[in-house]
Amino acid sequence: MEKRFIYADNAATTNITKNVLDAMMPYLTEHYGNPSSIYKMGRDAQKAIEDARAQIAECFGCQAKEIYFTSGGSEADNWAIKSTALRLGAKGKKHIITTEFEHHAVLHTCADLEKQGFEVTYLPVGEKGLVTAEQVEKAIREDTALVTIMYANNEIGTIQPIKEIGAVCREKKVLFHTDAVQAVGNVPINVKEQNIDMMSLSGHKLHAQKGIGLLYVKTGVALNNLIHGGAQERSRRAGTENVAAIVGLAEAVKTACADIEGKIARITPKRDRLIDEILKIECTRLNGDRESRLAGNVNISFLGIEGESLLLLLDMNGICASSGSACTSGSLDPSHVLLSLGLPHEIAHGSMRLSISDDITDEDVDYIIEVIPKIVERIRSMSPLWEDVVERQPEMEKLMKFVSPLKV
Ligand SMILES: *Cc1c(COP(=O)(O)O)cnc(C)c1O
Repeated sequence: MEKRFIYADNAATTNITKNVLDAMMPYLTEHYGNPSSIYKMGRDAQKAIEDARAQIAECFGCQAKEIYFTSGGSEADNWAIKSTALRLGAKGKKHIITTEFEHHAVLHTCADLEKQGFEVTYLPVGEKGLVTAEQVEKAIREDTALVTIMYANNEIGTIQPIKEIGAVCREKKVLFHTDAVQAVGNVPINVKEQNIDMMSLSGHKLHAQKGIGLLYVKTGVALNNLIHGGAQERSRRAGTENVAAIVGLAEAVKTACADIEGKIARITPKRDRLIDEILKIECTRLNGDRESRLAGNVNISFLGIEGESLLLLLDMNGICASSGSACTSGSLDPSHVLLSLGLPHEIAHGSMRLSISDDITDEDVDYIIEVIPKIVERIRSMSPLWEDVVERQPEMEKLMKFVSPLKV
């Protein structure tokens, strides 16, 4: 089969689509005015920002003034969590509830708050990578300031019962933040119906540019100023706005939210074919629940393989994939997400994530399905761990119970 180039790492970042770039271009070229200036070119830029805010608000069922533009998902997560901690911590509420498998933008923020005297409950996500509203309800205390739980996991694609979790938080009068970076455009989101108080989003995961995102904050939820200076973003986040990026973000959100059902219908069969075919390889497993899962996410572990070698060989064959989160690749620690499922290190290490977009063709899927078994066989033929699996099976029982059987 002829070599192809296939980008299957859309959970790490996405390409900027033509409609998004076209929407941005005028603000990078002729309409370069400062949105705070009073002449027409400035007012036009201001109007572009406010139109973008209104369009985005419509997509999520909220008001325009509840949207604050940020530099991305990490900033939005930090802002929501630290602002709430600072405000409610001062009133003696120093407890936060989150999960074991959040993005590091949430986990490291929580760890920093622990150093400052906050107590954090990290809910376990179980073998399927899901939390329940009951778990959240049980964990809420008198002094709980915030529940922050991601909408969909970036590594294993599992989708959490956000509406139910939000309902529990409402009832208990605890603020609820969700990192929806991976969910936007893949799952219908209405912040009012789904009881969400704060929500983070990132542009570059949905075909807008890197370095733009937003935080939704429900009216009535107090928010600290993040950057002091000018009056931009209702004085909460000073600094001249990134007009083109904001306009592009609105275009990307609008496009993503217009055809969620269609996208799911197009991508799911391709994802399922990838999963079913790759799982035919012996001693493999699918990570994360199969049903409550993003349409484009495939995360599979191969016993007896180093994820890094798999990724390098995939790259040589023109396939861009990932072994977990892009933020931790390069480090040799296994993914905290896979460990949170209870996987042994040996298995977590041999994992691969494919995150496909609407661009992928059936021929691309054929190609991936043809290439992967060959690569796996090649790596296993040189792997001491695989040799042990084949030759000393009884001693491997502890690992074997996590994967499909060895074919003899
Ligand atoms: C990518 C990602 C982020 C970080 O977003 P940036 O815009 O890159 O800062 C946060 N949370 C999740 C779930 C992500 O996938």
